[in-house]
Amino acid sequence: MALSENTVKKLYETRTLSDEEFLALLTTDAWDTLLCSLADRVRRQMYGDKVYIRGLIEFSNHCKNNCHYCGIRSGNHCAIRYRLSKEEILSCCKEGYSLGMRTFVLQSGEDAYFTDEMICDIVSSIHALYPDCAITLSIGEKSKESYQSYFDAGARRYLLRHEAASDALYRKLHPENMMLSARMQCLFDLKEIGYQVGAGFMVGAPYQTSEDLLSDLRFLQKLDPDMIGIGPYIRHEQTPFANFENGSLTLTVRLLAILRLMFPHALLPATTALSTIAPDGRKLGLQAGANVVMPNLSPVSVRKLYDLYENKNCTDEESAQCSYDLKQYIRSAGYQPVTDIGNVSRT
Ligand code: SF4
Repeated sequence: MALSENTVKKLYETRTLSDEEFLALLTTDAWDTLLCSLADRVRRQMYGDKVYIRGLIEFSNHCKNNCHYCGIRSGNHCAIRYRLSKEEILSCCKEGYSLGMRTFVLQSGEDAYFTDEMICDIVSSIHALYPDCAITLSIGEKSKESYQSYFDAGARRYLLRHEAASDALYRKLHPENMMLSARMQCLFDLKEIGYQVGAGFMVGAPYQTSEDLLSDLRFLQKLDPDMIGIGPYIRHEQTPFANFENGSLTLTVRLLAILRLMFPHALLPATTALSTIAPDGRKLGLQAGANVVMPNLSPVSVRKLYDLYENKNCTDEESAQCSYDLKQYIRSAGYQPVTDIGNVSRT
């Protein structure tokens, strides 16, 4: 179907479109400038020019899963594995806190070495030391009881990308034992417990169609998450998908703008994958409505080992220098870097 300017304005005003309109919008670049300018208007209405800086701590790259697209999948025997100790994690938080950061994102593969007791101990220790900080977990699929125990220990946010809301595509991206229904249930469990929840998906994943992306948009409407993380698919040589093309920067930026218009309240990261795929990728993401960046607080020695995809854009700079450079970058994109706790705004 042919789209008009009015269709894009309809998305701005009503936050949704028909299936046909979404599909048309996803497959043309004709309205990208208008989309980005409306998305920027909405983010300024909701969050002003603030871009929230969260400290990311990638504390283990061990994972029991074998997702076909992921560089740290269990089947990749070339991956050099690492785990940070509790003391190392706390030292990352100390560094982040001294740089003003008031949100810590603890991310890992699904690593059974870290029992619920250990996770709760780490979370409650951070909570006791830094009660003015938000603790975000991103450690995969767990039982509702486990999620509840982390919440009771002090975690308040949880990131779990659904990756693909179309069952057919989910099947192509994951091994038999992983179920989309289980992942979706986790997201609804997290919401029910009271977490601020983040979902998200890859753009340009192998076999992905526009209809699959439409399923992602519809699933997000159902879930109504607080955070949405998307990034272009980036190939990794040591995976079964080594020969697939990377996802497109243009389509990722277009989707960020669409998501900002659909979910004005959402916290949308400009992901590392965006800056990996193009030098100005993060800037374009910010200008399309993204309002979060997550610099790496992990020790420099392990940053390159958390390689979900190839050539991950990670710096060898110490966190302080990295934080300074990132703030300058955000300002150069036209926004104000802030390190405060930055809760979701649903007003
Ligand atoms: S995508 Fe996540 S769950 Fe899948 S193998 Fe990688 S780290 Fe593990």
